[in-house]
Amino acid sequence: RRGPAPAGPARPEARAAPSVEPPARRHLAVGPDENHRARRVRQAEHQHLRKHRADLPGREVDHRHHLPADQRGGRVVGGDPGRGAPLAQVARRAAKAGLGGLEALSGFPSTVGGAVFMNAGCYGVEIRDVLRSARLVGRDGARRRVTTVELEPAYRSTNLKRSGEIVTRALFELAPGEPAALLARIDELNARRWQSLPSGVANAGSVFRNPPGDYAGRLIDACGLKGTRAGAAEISPRHANVIVNTGGATARDVLTLMRRMRDEVAERFGVRLVPELMLLGDLVHDLDEAR
Ligand SMILES: Cc1cc2nc3c(=O)[nH]c(=O)nc-3n(C[C@H](O)[C@H](O)[C@H](O)COP(=O)(O)OP(=O)(O)OC[C@H]3O[C@@H](n4cnc5c(N)ncnc54)[C@H](O)[C@@H]3O)c2cc1C
Repeated sequence: RRGPAPAGPARPEARAAPSVEPPARRHLAVGPDENHRARRVRQAEHQHLRKHRADLPGREVDHRHHLPADQRGGRVVGGDPGRGAPLAQVARRAAKAGLGGLEALSGFPSTVGGAVFMNAGCYGVEIRDVLRSARLVGRDGARRRVTTVELEPAYRSTNLKRSGEIVTRALFELAPGEPAALLARIDELNARRWQSLPSGVANAGSVFRNPPGDYAGRLIDACGLKGTRAGAAEISPRHANVIVNTGGATARDVLTLMRRMRDEVAERFGVRLVPELMLLGDLVHDLDEAR
């Protein structure tokens, strides 16, 4: 995929004639080395091409439901978002370049790698929906590229939690869109988010995973726990599934609230809440056992 197109005859797939208007999507790659550029991605095995273009082998083009293939535009985002790229920044950058799909994932603090690690999600979109592949480095230094499926993404989880591998690059499959509309969508979703979540006060996001078919926040709220405090930790008056640090809260304070949330929801609704937060240390075994 890098360097000039090889000489010689066009690849067979590039000559394939489609029966319908051929679609294409575009890809955004995020990673730390100088070759990590966003490009159109060629997917040889599925490609439907209306016309052959001589420079195709140097690009990456995909195969689904959006643009006609002859609207390919080569590199779509210049530069490299860099190491530890914040997902929100990448989403904005993609939107400005006319690439949509990350808007719903642009409202919380996370690097791209951290979001892939936990298959982060928001507003019904998870990162697995747009992630096509990732490059990993193992603890022994071994490098490999995996597809999204190989990461075994599930609700707020991937097998990276077990393997300990580090994400060094992510390739997203994004759909072309109007930059102004995509940026407006980001702003709209973020405004909605901050209406219901605490802002300007320290917190770690959602405390418990949503149980199937329901919301942890709704259940905790129904128990009347918003505003409940333990030491300097408080169940946010804005969102019942968030614990805020009002200043000097200890781990013990936070865990005291978590146990109360879990126990009251279990007693009232018969639902056992499972922590979404990653808990470390000796104090947490009873909270972690349901994981
Ligand atoms: C206020 C707030 C709101 C949040 N809202 C949401 C939300 O709406 N939806 C949602 O899904 N999540 C949400 N989160 C959680 C957040 O997406 C995750 O905690 C995410 O993992 C944070 O990424 P990070 O880069 O900050 O990682 P860190 O917090 O630094 O690390 C978190 C974990 O990710 C691992 N990790 C980090 N980078 C990599 C990498 N490159 N490769 C492999 N593993 C890595 C770390 O080892 C660690 O285990 C929220 C968090 C906060 C604080």
